[in-house]
Amino acid sequence: MAKLEVVRGDITKRAVDAIVNAANTSLLGGGGVDGAIHRAAGPELVAACRELHGCKTADAKATPGFRLPAKWVFHAVGPVWNGGAKGEPEQLANCYRQCLQLAREHEVKSIAFPAISTGIYGYPKGPAAKIAIAVCREMAGGCGVDTVEFCCFDEATAVTYERLLGEA
Ligand code: ADP
Repeated sequence: MAKLEVVRGDITKRAVDAIVNAANTSLLGGGGVDGAIHRAAGPELVAACRELHGCKTADAKATPGFRLPAKWVFHAVGPVWNGGAKGEPEQLANCYRQCLQLAREHEVKSIAFPAISTGIYGYPKGPAAKIAIAVCREMAGGCGVDTVEFCCFDEATAVTYERLLGEA
């Protein structure tokens, strides 16, 4: 079974095999964690993303990490929260699943996720964290991943993950 951990701070600093970006469908950069990752990885990242021709909501695509400590960036497009009855939970779960499939393909042993969709996209933090934890518990080990980091930028997100990971 993979180890699931909470870490605090900036995901661009994580020295793991892959970090996950909460991207948008263009894959050409944006605000929040997406902007931070593009700034830290350097201009090679947007050039590599351009060749991917976008990404659908609930899917993910891989690029190298360029100037980041992480070898790979998996760009996942989470759903915009629209009340929760428009398929958002399944779409969010699928983002995590697709990233773990990419981890398997690229033989990634350690991966750091941000709290996808919970910033600008407005997904409530608790329900989003539950989905992230459930999918990673179920799939990470089977995909060859040893360590999953939930990289929490703000205190409220960290407390939410710590509580939920402590529960079961
Ligand atoms: P989305 O558009 O998917 O909601 P955001 O980037 O707005 O994406 O927010 C997703 C989460 O990433 C939020 O919890 C936000 O606080 C967090 N975040 C923002 N910058 C960073 C960073 N440098 N490292 C890790 N998490 C970050």
